[in-house]
Amino acid sequence: VISRADAAATTGNTTAAPMVIRGGLLLTQDPAQPRVIGDVLVTDGRIAAVGAVPDDATATVIDATGKVVLPGFVDTHRHMWQSLFAQAGFGWDFPTFRRHVQLTWGPRMTAADAYTAELVSALAALDAGTTTVRDESHIQNTPEHADATVAALRTSGIRAVFAHGWPCVDSDAWMIASTRRHPRTLARLRRDVLADDTELVTLGAMLRGPEMADLNVIGDDLALARELNVPASMHVGFGGAAIGRLHDTGLLGPDLLFVHCCDSTDDELHMLADAGATASVASGTEISMPGLGLPATARLLAAGVRTGLSSDTEVCVAGDMFTQMRAAHAASVAEAARTSSAPVTAEQLLTLATRSGAEALHLHDRIGSITVGKDADLIVIGRDGTPLAQAADPAGATVAAATPHDVELVLVRGHVRKHPNLTQPGAAELHTQAEDARNRLTTG
Ligand SMILES: [Zn+2]
Repeated sequence: VISRADAAATTGNTTAAPMVIRGGLLLTQDPAQPRVIGDVLVTDGRIAAVGAVPDDATATVIDATGKVVLPGFVDTHRHMWQSLFAQAGFGWDFPTFRRHVQLTWGPRMTAADAYTAELVSALAALDAGTTTVRDESHIQNTPEHADATVAALRTSGIRAVFAHGWPCVDSDAWMIASTRRHPRTLARLRRDVLADDTELVTLGAMLRGPEMADLNVIGDDLALARELNVPASMHVGFGGAAIGRLHDTGLLGPDLLFVHCCDSTDDELHMLADAGATASVASGTEISMPGLGLPATARLLAAGVRTGLSSDTEVCVAGDMFTQMRAAHAASVAEAARTSSAPVTAEQLLTLATRSGAEALHLHDRIGSITVGKDADLIVIGRDGTPLAQAADPAGATVAAATPHDVELVLVRGHVRKHPNLTQPGAAELHTQAEDARNRLTTG
């Protein structure tokens, strides 16, 4: 029996019990040995051995025969506060989405609402095998919203980069040709709340790009983030030649993550590669929100940009990474038909959803592959009746057909975050709280 007591650890630095995951098909994402049928030994929260692990009476044994074992998924861009409104707007175009979510519901959210939303989002992500998320948090209506969202991330047990953004209140002034500088709360968070980059939850900055803010403001904001040594992200690729303008002003750098890049030119994508900057493709949202543009997955790969996938928002699309992989594949098939390029493969998609995502977040020294010495962020995926590991093409079968329901075991730094025997006290109360908040925020 596995208890959830360890989920209360606020830093994630407590020691997890030893475990052996036996006999699975390990799609390791480690180029040195990409595919292994065997065991993974987890001790002290880390991967201690891969291959044939001898019996150890002190370790919990998980039978993964016939199942696929992967590094946990890395969601490189998720607006977790919006999970409170999950599936509220399938098919919405961006203006409709903005009117409801960013201009009406978001401004009403209190710090307590943000806490509830964040926890709902983190637990849904863990349930779907996402062990790391970059929370793009532009719900900073008050300084307390930051403390509440960080507290929820820590309570959930997920690994996260909390990317501090701007308020939803007075949104036009922040998001349209803005002359407002990024909230200084970022400096307080660095000093008092998220000073330690070895914890499970670390600090990032969600900044406005040239399609939202004045270039002088962006220069100031980036100077702040760089002074605090905090990696920053920007949403770009909607008709403003944002990357080119940042390149011309000398602001590009390896600390920057560029989200979407849908209509960024190939020249701009090469600027990202040259600068060592990284990218996040929100394939599910991009193909389902009319007018957003096509996922740039294949173009980013061709340009050599370290790229991850992302769920973006649960308002319009499912938030799991299987959905994002399938959406990226579908878009690349359409693109391939038009340009006679090759569609992305299942192996590439699994890498985008794991190791490349870790690279995009600068966490690849710690996570992203099943490699001895890395943290044990691992998932086991099984299917009753049709074992994925015995499919002719297990990677293809996983991308094509697996769902969050098939994710049986989720470990974050060796701590169990999903298992059939795991009880989740407080889940019913959380869902009641979320429903109450949703009803209050979306009416009137
Ligand atoms: Zn976004």
